Amino acid sequence: MAENAARQVSAAPVLALEDISHRFDRMLAVDRVGLSIAAGEIVCLVGPSGCGKSTLLRIAAGLEELQTGTVWVDGRVVADTRQSLPPERRGVGLVFQDYALFPHLSVLDNVRFGLSALPGHRQAERALEALAQVDMRDLAHAFPHTLSGGQQQRVALARALAPQPRVLLLDEPFSGLDGRLRRTVRDHTLHVLEKSGAATMLVTHDPEEAMFMADRIALMCEGRLVQTGTPRALYFEPAEAFAAEFFGEVNTLRGRVADGVVKTPLGTLPAPGCGESEAVEVLVRPEGLSLTADPVRGADLFGHVEAARLLGRTTLVHLSIADVGGGRLHVHARVPGTFLPGPGERVAVTLNPDLAFVFPAR
Ligand code: ATP
Repeated sequence: MAENAARQVSAAPVLALEDISHRFDRMLAVDRVGLSIAAGEIVCLVGPSGCGKSTLLRIAAGLEELQTGTVWVDGRVVADTRQSLPPERRGVGLVFQDYALFPHLSVLDNVRFGLSALPGHRQAERALEALAQVDMRDLAHAFPHTLSGGQQQRVALARALAPQPRVLLLDEPFSGLDGRLRRTVRDHTLHVLEKSGAATMLVTHDPEEAMFMADRIALMCEGRLVQTGTPRALYFEPAEAFAAEFFGEVNTLRGRVADGVVKTPLGTLPAPGCGESEAVEVLVRPEGLSLTADPVRGADLFGHVEAARLLGRTTLVHLSIADVGGGRLHVHARVPGTFLPGPGERVAVTLNPDLAFVFPAR
């Protein structure tokens, strides 16, 4: 998979979250999280529902009172355990899931709302510039209720961009949209964010959305930061089984390390970081199994097709493979949609070790 195209991002962090922890009563919602975002960089905070993403974003924004840790914007402490600047004095732009537009104000006045620090004549000019950034200048005099969901999202983005903040924080900004519109708005937003030069933190629960939008992904689970890295690193070098499972389906096999490797019915794999005789889980992405019609010279692994379903660009093949001890193993292979074997067909199976991961058993 191609890594998201690298853009120029400055190395110095503009937003830095240092050792942030947060409790709601006795529940630890954020557990010692550290994260820095540079100017022009888009970082997606992703993880399952309830893992603490929104809480972390709200702490960065100043909407949730910080309990432990430090928030820096542009080299300045905006919150620590002794002091806390209100959201409007942090130099951050915010976009929420429901857009939070004022229904009684026009599009222009919604965008102008956060520009009171500018002289009067500059406020409308700057608001129109921000609307132009999101291709909404023509609708400056419309009211929010007359706009589609996608247009409202653009207005919310323009309002966040208008004061030219150094940091943009977006909490599930596409979840109110569905299907094709969601993809279109996402694509448009990506280009606007890239041009803005702001350090951007975008919260989503959708792994595909995170991969689409992010220069770097920060994956959370139960309040803790599991892994931070490029989309490519999270997909091809998951730090733990949870990370491998979060970014796509996996076949899970079990085994035990012997002589530094683990033997599975799909092949033998190195087991770095695992002890001798340790019980391990082997996670194999379905696209890590390639199939060719039998007979194939030199092939040493075969499977029987139980079912094959064309899903568009790819076909998902349900395979039965001989397991140790005479049993059968059920695995999924994802192959190009041009290959659609029939039930009962025998196919040769090749494992790509780059798409197989070995972790200590949970
Ligand atoms: P989602 O995608 O569902 O919004 P999330 O990853 O953003 O999830 P948070 O909203 O940060 O998760 O919530 C983390 C945990 O803290 C959850 O268990 C949630 O129920 C709890 N929580 C969040 N806000 C509060 C609050 N104000 N009072 C009590 N518990 C809260």
